[in-house]
Amino acid sequence: MRKTLLALMVCLSFVSIGSAAPGAVRCGKLLDVRGGRMLSDQVVLFDDTGTIVSVGAAASAKLPNGVTPIDLSSATCLPGLIDVHTHITFDPSANGYAGLGISVPREAVTGVKNARLTVHAGFTTIRNVGATNYADVAVRDGINDGEIEGPRMLVSGPPLSITGGHCDNNLLPFEYHNKAEGVADGPWAAREKVREVIKYGADVIKVCASGGVLSKGDQPGTPQYSFEELQAIATEAHKLGRKVAAHAHGTQSIKDAINAGIDSIEHSSLIDDEGIALAKQHGTYLDFDIYNDDYILQEGAKAGMLPESIEKEKKIGRLQRENFRHEKEKKIGRLQRENFRHAWQSGTKMAFATDAGVYPHGDNAKQFAKMVEWGMKPIDAIQAATISAADLLGWSGKVGVIETGHYADIIAVNGDPLTDVRVLESVKFVMKGGAVVRNDIASK
Ligand SMILES: [Zn+2]
Repeated sequence: MRKTLLALMVCLSFVSIGSAAPGAVRCGKLLDVRGGRMLSDQVVLFDDTGTIVSVGAAASAKLPNGVTPIDLSSATCLPGLIDVHTHITFDPSANGYAGLGISVPREAVTGVKNARLTVHAGFTTIRNVGATNYADVAVRDGINDGEIEGPRMLVSGPPLSITGGHCDNNLLPFEYHNKAEGVADGPWAAREKVREVIKYGADVIKVCASGGVLSKGDQPGTPQYSFEELQAIATEAHKLGRKVAAHAHGTQSIKDAINAGIDSIEHSSLIDDEGIALAKQHGTYLDFDIYNDDYILQEGAKAGMLPESIEKEKKIGRLQRENFRHEKEKKIGRLQRENFRHAWQSGTKMAFATDAGVYPHGDNAKQFAKMVEWGMKPIDAIQAATISAADLLGWSGKVGVIETGHYADIIAVNGDPLTDVRVLESVKFVMKGGAVVRNDIASK
């Protein structure tokens, strides 16, 4: 009996559903991400639904009876971070053939573990773009029902792919008749697949427009879906109230996806000036995952990635060399980083997207330093992971800022992220919807 009670108590402290009572947080510093200003000694007050009701100077804060603010007066508060490109149900240890032995229920269990790591790292919202079957739907629903701990999730379910494409499964020979569940060829079949993934719980549509790095038998720069198919997918998804994220490394696929009306380009590796101009014209978000390249090159072989994937990461294929004759044999990762800088300087919209799952979950914030190294100011990178990401998700009124009417999703760090963005790699306090997920800030 005692044991059961203890287990129950552990369970209750483990799971954070949202605040059941009004509360407040007192922040020594508070980063106004919209204005890029650091405010001093602020109190954030939230109601019993976990929604912020006021933000202001501590001296003039009117606290309801019985509310004592959580003391973060030695720390810097920011809105909960957002990663718009994760694979919560995948771990980097099971790439290539090793992944074939893992069932979908087992992937859901992996997702439970990674959801916890992610929210503890300060990412209180994620967009999961690609899972086997609907393992990500199960994780999202478990979090929303308060059964497990994790970030707010928008999920895609299985990504749409052409037969033999980046998001098909091409590891087994013909006699196994193995096909990924998101495969659909032709505009009408693709429309039907959009309807199907929405039926089973997708909040967002993921489509693999070009080849990729971690798939067998294709090249990152090669187009896969045709323009007509991409247009059918975008039209159908928008009609049904969903946005579309397109995996596109290749120059042509990036342009086709933007022209088709797709909302964000994932990876964007081999984008050229015309693609950048199109993205600006259409207001398309460009999501560059510029941290994980280092991980793939260092750890990929050990993690079971196919030798051809490591080669692809190292070298650009023949097709890309046509576009970059003067840059022969450049790593695709290096080109992606150069193109990230160029696109940012050209004024495109960008959201923070890491491809977590390719590298270990919970390390998401390591990308901030890369974004600063490649041309952003710390505030730019933080905005990409807050207000811009919220805009891309269609959740601007809910997350991304610490303002009245938004969820009390608040993190805190020691130090100033505007001078050293790496402090975001060790988040000390996380609150989601007014409920404390972790608190390692020693109160004074
Ligand atoms: Zn991905």
